[in-house]
Amino acid sequence: MNIVVLLSVVASLMWSVRATAAGCDFSNQSLSFAGDEITQARCLLRPVMKGGSLGARLNPLPPPFEHFIGQPVGITPDEFLALLKQLDIAPNALGGAVTQPLSQSSAPGHPQARYFVIHDTSLNVCTDTGQFARSEDADASWNRASRWANDANAHLYITRDGKLVAPQGRIFSVPWRATKLEANAGPNSRGLFLHVENVQLRIAELKPGDAAMVNGDCRNDRIAQTPGLSDAQMQKLALTYIAASVRAKKWLIPAYHAAIDDGISNGHDDPQHFDLTRWGTVICSYLDRMGKACS
Ligand SMILES: [Zn+2]
Repeated sequence: MNIVVLLSVVASLMWSVRATAAGCDFSNQSLSFAGDEITQARCLLRPVMKGGSLGARLNPLPPPFEHFIGQPVGITPDEFLALLKQLDIAPNALGGAVTQPLSQSSAPGHPQARYFVIHDTSLNVCTDTGQFARSEDADASWNRASRWANDANAHLYITRDGKLVAPQGRIFSVPWRATKLEANAGPNSRGLFLHVENVQLRIAELKPGDAAMVNGDCRNDRIAQTPGLSDAQMQKLALTYIAASVRAKKWLIPAYHAAIDDGISNGHDDPQHFDLTRWGTVICSYLDRMGKACS
């Protein structure tokens, strides 16, 4: 065996263990990223900047994440269902019944879902910045449930006015993949990730003299609206995270899509303008309503 062949064999063996050498270092053997749960969360929650570049790890993570992730959730399904009733939210609207187990991998031991993946839809309105101002209108096309009802890319869509849409009827008990890392890592990764898409509008970033359209397509979708998620989305996303964690019986690891695919070419740039501190505050407000401490 010459050195070139040897190196290529070693490289392919390494690839079989590590889906990506960069990023948060997913292992196809442990079916997790490197480190304990809080270490993984710090890597997977690096702020996502324009174009998908990632900021530094947050150490510590804002409340309640630093002390909660990986720990027992301490909320019974009945306690959570009582909160949903107060909020007039249907008991199965947040990814299915809170008494039902989450999706599982087909790997030995059938590990249950571990990662709560936050996406944005990067819905491109190209140069039409006026759409940002009406992005939360209930009758805007992107806020109609029918716009996402047959989408194949996630377990749940949250529109900017807070509608919850189960695409193709999918719920969190259905193993589903929606990132490049899962595709690269092979079939055992299916079922470990829960995917929540949040509707967000984008426009193109143009340099002086650029035409917005190139061959009939918008040049890019690099500029996201601010805030990245509306208040209604933050609230529904918080409840969805609590619901999934109640089902897991421990606080899941939240993760940004861009951080999951970090190190894989042509990775995504979502979610943009996601305020983790604000999301944590909203989660804590619901814990407070259930009489639970947030630290
Ligand atoms: Zn995504």
